[in-house]
Amino acid sequence: MTSKAKHSLLVVGSLAFDSIETPNGSVDNALGGSATYFSYAASFFSPPRLVGVIGADFPDEHRQMLANAGVDIEGLVTLPGQTFRWKGRYHQDMNTRDTLEVHLNVFGDFDPVLPAHYRDSTHVFLANGVPALQAKVLDQVRRPQLVLADTMDLWIENQRKDLLALLPRLDGLLLNDSEAHLLSGEANLVRAGQAVLRMGPKFVILKKGGHGVMLFSADGVFVVPAFPTETVVDPTGAGDSFAGGILGYLTSDDSPPPGRLRRGMAYGTIVASFTVEDFGLDRLRRTRREEIDERLETYRGMLHF
Ligand code: AMP
Repeated sequence: MTSKAKHSLLVVGSLAFDSIETPNGSVDNALGGSATYFSYAASFFSPPRLVGVIGADFPDEHRQMLANAGVDIEGLVTLPGQTFRWKGRYHQDMNTRDTLEVHLNVFGDFDPVLPAHYRDSTHVFLANGVPALQAKVLDQVRRPQLVLADTMDLWIENQRKDLLALLPRLDGLLLNDSEAHLLSGEANLVRAGQAVLRMGPKFVILKKGGHGVMLFSADGVFVVPAFPTETVVDPTGAGDSFAGGILGYLTSDDSPPPGRLRRGMAYGTIVASFTVEDFGLDRLRRTRREEIDERLETYRGMLHF
C-alpha cells in the first residue's frame, strides 16, 4: 500500500515567528508559518521536502525539530536579516481574526529555487504566497501528479491576473469562505465553490473555519464536518495542518480513487483538530500517529448513520 519511494511530497511556503492573541491567552514569537504547519502535519504520513526562507535569527533547534520529524530541509535557505513575523488576534468566536502586524523581512526577498533532487516530486503544496512565486515553483517540478495551492484575500485583490493564470495548472485550490466570495463575487457558498471550479482547478476545497469544509469537483459536492473538539486554544495553522494531513496521506497511499481524496480530507480534519488544541505547534508536537488513528475512528462513528 505505502510507496514512499515512488511518491514524494514538496511544500513551499512561509516559516515564521507568530505572535498570537486569543480569548484563552497569548504567545509571542512562536514558531509558525504555513510551510511549518504543513510539514509537521504531513510528516505523520509522508515527510515533505521543504522550500522556504529564514533569517539569521532562526534557531538551530527549530531546524533540528523539523529534520527530526523527517522533513527534508535542504531547500531551506538562510538569508541575512530577520525571519518573517506575523501577529494576529482572534475574535471571541475563534473563527475570525485580525492581522495586526506583518513583517515580511527575508520572506520579501524569497526567490524559490528547488534543489535538484526535489524536482521529481509527485505531490506539491503551494502554501499561501505570491501567485507568481507559486507558479515559479511549479515550473521547476518535472511531472507533478497532484498540485494543491492555498491563497489569501491579498492576492485575490492585488495579484488577480497571476492567480487566475495559476488556477488551470492546479489540481486543487484551498480557500476559506470569505476568499471564495471575493474571488467569485458569489454570496452563496455553493455557487461560489462552483464558480471557482469553473476558473480551472480540478477541485476546490472551501474551508468554513470551525464548521468544516466542502469539496467541489466534477463529482459534485462532498461535505466534511470539523471534528468537534472541546478545546480550541489557538486556530492558527489549522488550514495548513489540514492541507498537510490531506497531501501527506495522499502521498503515502496508493489505494484507488475515488475515495482517496475524501479519506485524505478526513485525515486532514483530524490533524487540524489536534493543532488547534494548543498554541503554535505545541499540541502537534505531542501528538502520536496512534492518536490520529484513534480520533479518526471516533470521527467515523460520528458520521455513520
Ligand atoms: P492559517 O491559520 O492556516 O491561515 O496559517 C497561519 C500561518 O500563516 C501563520 O503561522 C502565519 O505565520 C502564516 N502567514 C500569515 N500571513 C502570511 C502571508 N502573507 N504569507 C505567508 N504566510 C503567512
